[in-house]
Amino acid sequence: MTTPIRVTVWNEGRHEQTHDAVKAVYPNGMHTVIADYLNGQPGITARTATLDMPEHGLTEEVLANTDVLTWWGHVAHDEVDDAIIERVAQRVWDGMGIIFLHSAHFSKMFKRLMGTSCQLKWREANEKERLWVVDPTHPIAAGLGDYFELPHEEMYGEMFDIPVPDQLVFISWFQGGEVFRSGCCFTRGKGKIFYFRPGHETHPTYYDANVQRVIGNAVRWATPPQNSVVIASPCYQALEPLE
Ligand code: ZN
Repeated sequence: MTTPIRVTVWNEGRHEQTHDAVKAVYPNGMHTVIADYLNGQPGITARTATLDMPEHGLTEEVLANTDVLTWWGHVAHDEVDDAIIERVAQRVWDGMGIIFLHSAHFSKMFKRLMGTSCQLKWREANEKERLWVVDPTHPIAAGLGDYFELPHEEMYGEMFDIPVPDQLVFISWFQGGEVFRSGCCFTRGKGKIFYFRPGHETHPTYYDANVQRVIGNAVRWATPPQNSVVIASPCYQALEPLE
């Protein structure tokens, strides 16, 4: 039996405490819905961590035992300690996978890893989102059809100020006419990064079977390979005689 993939589902967790409409959708926090789904998948074990825990729940010990971290934040991006941001960035460069969900596009963590403003257009109008699979060969699209739809979501529109993704898996279309790169893959150091757009807090998006499937697929994709390559900058001895 192979070792399970160890996932930490991180959530800011503020809307669920202060906003009745969100509490109604996610009474125990959206992180529990995501973690419960992942814990039901073979070969995955998930735990949760939130902003209000000591060290935001992202201690050295937790990160050392995390293969893939998922990140949701919105109103309290600035409350994430810079030292924790640097700690997580180092773990990504060392190989930990990380999945950014929805409004995590504007988190310090995502901006730290992208190096751009990560701005986009947005609108809260409960409109339909259609996510087109533009790379059906990609493992994150496994089990999906040509597209899937969410009946009510917040709109995110281009231009999304990110570096050109290494692979693009989804493009969203919104009822109001905008399009958006909604499934973007990157590599930074040894770590794989996936940005997945849906997940506005007032909609039951993380209960959606297709959304859950994508998150599960992304966890498997982002899991670090077992290799011993160390990224460092040593003074290196020549392998062949030089004279
Ligand atoms: Zn939102």
